Amino acid sequence: MVLGMTNRRVLISGAGVAGPALAFWLHRHGFTPTVVERAPELRDGGYAVDFRGASLRVLDRMGLLPQVEAAATRMGEVTYVDGDDRPLVGTPASVQSGELEILRGDLSRILYDATKDDVEYVFGDSITGVLERGDGVTVTFEHGEPREFDLVVGADGLHSNVRSLVFGDESWYRRDLGYYVSICTVPNHLGLDHVGRFYNEPNRTIGVYSARDNAEAKALFWFGSPPIDYDHRDVEQQRRIVEETFSGAGWETPTLLEAMREAPDFYFDSASQIVLDSYSRGRVALVGDAAYCAAPLSGMGTSLAIVGAYVLAGELAAADGHVKAFGAYEAEMRGFVDACQKLAQGNGKWFVPPTRGWIRLRNLNYKLLPYLPWRKVIEEMPLKAGNAITLKEYAAARA
Ligand SMILES: Cc1cc2nc3c(=O)[nH]c(=O)nc-3n(C[C@H](O)[C@H](O)[C@H](O)COP(=O)(O)OP(=O)(O)OC[C@H]3O[C@@H](n4cnc5c(N)ncnc54)[C@H](O)[C@@H]3O)c2cc1C
Repeated sequence: MVLGMTNRRVLISGAGVAGPALAFWLHRHGFTPTVVERAPELRDGGYAVDFRGASLRVLDRMGLLPQVEAAATRMGEVTYVDGDDRPLVGTPASVQSGELEILRGDLSRILYDATKDDVEYVFGDSITGVLERGDGVTVTFEHGEPREFDLVVGADGLHSNVRSLVFGDESWYRRDLGYYVSICTVPNHLGLDHVGRFYNEPNRTIGVYSARDNAEAKALFWFGSPPIDYDHRDVEQQRRIVEETFSGAGWETPTLLEAMREAPDFYFDSASQIVLDSYSRGRVALVGDAAYCAAPLSGMGTSLAIVGAYVLAGELAAADGHVKAFGAYEAEMRGFVDACQKLAQGNGKWFVPPTRGWIRLRNLNYKLLPYLPWRKVIEEMPLKAGNAITLKEYAAARA
């Protein structure tokens, strides 16, 4: 810890992945982080997320790699099937699941458990105002009393509240990729054993994969669409959008739609990226999806969140003041962010083919993949992006 270090009191908005990871490192470096989360409790449902490259080294430095490995999904192949559930082509686990895959909720829980004894968590509240003074920030809340902090960090996801309050309207920074995704927990009615089955119709991908050692499954619905006007908080409206978009689709879709109606952890959002010219304004910074969402099509969002938290905390501990620290954080992260965001661009057509011709082309590509000369390039592309940063060793950063 740096003696005389300033900016000790850091308010973090969001207890997803980036928020608790940042709190972990800030505490390790001698800061006093507080995390405010809008949800009344930790949101531990959700889909599978992958780790690649540098993020695994950060987990290792946190001492949490064994826990994450113990909770890994251990997913095998994903098979694309036709309307009668006949296998068309398989994709190996390395394509779908990265180097290590875990349910997002399990990861969030591991990070929370690793920090909850040292970090103040305030659930069920949200920031309403951030007023910067020369030497600090006065923060107002929906429910709690106003409080003073030295710095504020928005780790509150794609639709970041802190970003809207301090950087401006989301529409200025959000780049929609033309796809929507819905995921929820459903019964494992096909009896899948650590595998997934996906089915395509033009512009629609429906899938199901087993989770929690086959005790349940995750259903996913992807579709291509121009921007849809909907309320982010109105879950019933979102369920209706999914229902209408997928009504009439074949294979197991009617069963999965029925289960979706009852699902406790329904998730719906656009596949979007956040592109900012700066990750900070004054005493406020952003981390994770709030700063540089790469979209689920990249498979890199969690890696970015974990690495971003490590770098931001490390630079705050190392630099003399937040201005230098935020500048160094950005300089370290830019190239990594660009590489991860690039992965998603152009990826959509392979995952949600727009026509029957594209579906056939995608399947043929997977069939021929083992024999293609550029196979290694395709397989190694995500790994290359995941390693597009050299992690510094920050003082006091070893477990
Ligand atoms: C379908 C899907 C599949 C994905 N697959 C992968 C994958 O394979 N690999 C991968 O690396 N990534 C994947 N991702 C992306 C990954 O989930 C995110 O990039 C990652 O969770 C980012 O973490 P975060 O902490 O920045 O944001 P989030 O996990 O979104 O957490 C934000 C937190 O902020 C809270 N919050 C929101 N508003 C407020 C507020 N006003 N006040 C306080 N708190 C607030 C939220 O409740 C939430 O807890 C996927 C995402 C989706 C949607």
